[in-house]
Amino acid sequence: MTTSDNISSCISGDESQALPVSAAQAVIRRWVQPVATIERVALRAALDRVLAEDVISPINVPAHDNAAMDGYAFDGAVLSEGPASADGAGAAQLTLDVSGEALAGHPFIGTLAARQCVRIMTGAPMPAGSDTVVPQEFVTRSGGRIAFDARQVARGANCRRAGEDLARGCPALHAGRIMRPSDVGLVASLGIAEVAVRRRLRVAFFSTGDELRSIGEPLEAGCVYDSNRYTLSAMLARLNVEALDLGVVRDEPAALEAAFRSAAQSADVVLSSGGVSVGVADFTRRMFETLGDVAFWQLAIRPGRPLAFGRLWPNAESGRNSQERPALFFGLPGNPVAVMATFYLIVRETLLAMSGARAPAPLQLTAVATAAIKKRAGRTEYQRGIATREADGTWRVAPTRSQGAGVLSSMSEANCFIVLAHEQGHVAAGERVEIMPFEGLI
Ligand code: AMP
Ligand code: MG
Repeated sequence: MTTSDNISSCISGDESQALPVSAAQAVIRRWVQPVATIERVALRAALDRVLAEDVISPINVPAHDNAAMDGYAFDGAVLSEGPASADGAGAAQLTLDVSGEALAGHPFIGTLAARQCVRIMTGAPMPAGSDTVVPQEFVTRSGGRIAFDARQVARGANCRRAGEDLARGCPALHAGRIMRPSDVGLVASLGIAEVAVRRRLRVAFFSTGDELRSIGEPLEAGCVYDSNRYTLSAMLARLNVEALDLGVVRDEPAALEAAFRSAAQSADVVLSSGGVSVGVADFTRRMFETLGDVAFWQLAIRPGRPLAFGRLWPNAESGRNSQERPALFFGLPGNPVAVMATFYLIVRETLLAMSGARAPAPLQLTAVATAAIKKRAGRTEYQRGIATREADGTWRVAPTRSQGAGVLSSMSEANCFIVLAHEQGHVAAGERVEIMPFEGLI
């Protein structure tokens, strides 16, 4: 069956045809368009932003040949000229005259002659006529001379060459890079004050459900506090997107339609939670026929089976061929763990790509399951696990006590997802499984 067959059967509501995760990711990629607007920001403000252009080095790094150790700089040609004297132990003693000093920021002015050297500190520019540094611990100094065993040093040793880290004109960082602290420092080391980044992605989100109450409101029978907006805003904050919280929307077609319309007008991506499971999705589906297109309604994933993905046209009535860009839309499940799992496994990658980022896939490791794990073939499962590293370096993983899609404490208890592939069946204790650590992901 092709992906498009899968899509249409999902839209038609055939539950046996939930889309496999890899197919869903391929469908989503087809509709992703990175934010086009570029802004220039001061370097300090560039942390966690996405570079819009390569950063090209205007200088050689390091700018000059310089010493990699404290010692004495000299012309290494003398090393091949044979020893000035050889002692009884076979050492090839070389004797050099000390003609000055070079410190970081205080170069030696002048050119060294053969068999002359300069006392040099790490980072100081190599004096003209020198190419080698003998570390100070190899040297005996008496007055204005040093002596050392020439066999301990090779020509060119302990000297960092100009342009060795980065040559002038070469890219130091590539477009699509999410700026880390080391990148901010790297750009500073090039003397660059500003970088071009993409506009932050705007993501609007809201919760749906008549049973939802906000913090501060009394909790009547049958009601729950809305936690999804809090987890969503926290997860979005980590991705450094501009998050627009549109509150709680009642399970009423008119209210939902108004929420989707205003969200599509103000955001690049719209996330809703709740209201997409089979029982309640019908009016949502009809609404999408006027507001946009839906690519799929169901994913072969657990937790998170009811998950809608589509596009919303900001002004649907005025036609879809206008210059306007549609907002991407994810209708996430209502269950709090399902919201988090689908966010990390489906939405996150989309938000990064929409932000223009070229980010590596989340880290996965192999671990030994400490207990049997129930798993049905035909869907990808992301169970919550607690991974520990043994003294011999192997990883072990135990599933958390509860795997319920509504048990949010299992996410707090866990430190990884146990990733059980689409075709995989039950796992026996002692079998190897893939884990995706939360560290670096959440
Ligand atoms: P639904 O997908 O709307 O049928 O919701 C599935 C389950 O998730 C129900 O038990 C809801 O009460 C719960 N739920 C939905 N939205 C939220 C939310 N924002 N915060 C906490 N629980 C929610
Ligand atoms: Mg609901």
